[in-house]
Amino acid sequence: MKQQTFKGSIFLIMAMILFTVTIAQAYPKITAYMPYYALYTESQQNKTTCYIIIRKFKYNSTQVYLYIHPDTLQTGILKNPQGTIQQNSLNNIIRQCADTQYAKLYQKALQKSKRMFNAGITHVDTNGMFVSFDLCPSKRPIDSDFIEKFIALKKTSTPLPVIICISGKWMLTHPEDLQWLQSLASNGKLDITWANHSFTHFYSRKLPVRKNFMLKEDTNVAREVFQNEICMLEHDIIPSVFFRFPGLVSNQKIYEKVMGYGLIPLGADAWLAKGKKPVAGSIILVHPNGNEKKGTSLLLQLARCGTININTIVSLTKAYTNTQQTALIHKKQVKL
Ligand SMILES: [Zn+2]
Repeated sequence: MKQQTFKGSIFLIMAMILFTVTIAQAYPKITAYMPYYALYTESQQNKTTCYIIIRKFKYNSTQVYLYIHPDTLQTGILKNPQGTIQQNSLNNIIRQCADTQYAKLYQKALQKSKRMFNAGITHVDTNGMFVSFDLCPSKRPIDSDFIEKFIALKKTSTPLPVIICISGKWMLTHPEDLQWLQSLASNGKLDITWANHSFTHFYSRKLPVRKNFMLKEDTNVAREVFQNEICMLEHDIIPSVFFRFPGLVSNQKIYEKVMGYGLIPLGADAWLAKGKKPVAGSIILVHPNGNEKKGTSLLLQLARCGTININTIVSLTKAYTNTQQTALIHKKQVKL
């Protein structure tokens, strides 16, 4: 009997070790991460497709690239490239791809660099609306009650498109909430566009806005951008082309620096908790990180009374590209 218990314990310990190893292996290790700009062309079945490569890194031990499909704005991970990679400056690549949706949006965003508050793309010329969730660092759990109620309002069975702007500090302190969000995507409830919301998302109550958020004196913009991308990738998230400045606060210098990494700054013309009213084409902003219940309950109210028609909420990438074409070859090929 004693021996059986001993055997049972050994079995249990082995099972726990195996389980731990399985969990540890579930997420990839990202190393040798660097900005890298190249045009990648690939031909398949007499069709040539162009991709813009913006990063180069090791995914576990495999050399891969992060790319943008410039016609669909989809991003993905490219491994084992079969086509041609031509390294160039980002500016030259954008010039070469001038007719694409990405290049057009990039040029549009470049003109919106000067404002200190809410620079970037704030509105889209369409009848639909866009919902963005900011996950700034927070001691509170995710507002799952709000998210569940919001999803339940949708009448059709298609996933609800949302932009989730995620910060590294939130990711590292909310692993279970993040997995829950990811499960909503894999279960077809949410269609998530993941935007970079900086790694540390610095904020101090004591500092004036011009020295706060990423305008803090010693902010390392490259680290805020890349460290967060690495953190996203290490949690099985493929960063989109969008970057949201913490507090929606920036200046021309850091705005242009972020764009120099190939990213499109994303503002919002309807920050609900600040009293902004959404209209057709609005980019709505709420904080389901538990810190701004006013905004999330307003969103539910507006969706319930029909001011926001939840069935016309669209995905940002689809609104810009207006096409079903996706980067089929490598889309979301994250499990290498
Ligand atoms: Zn934030």
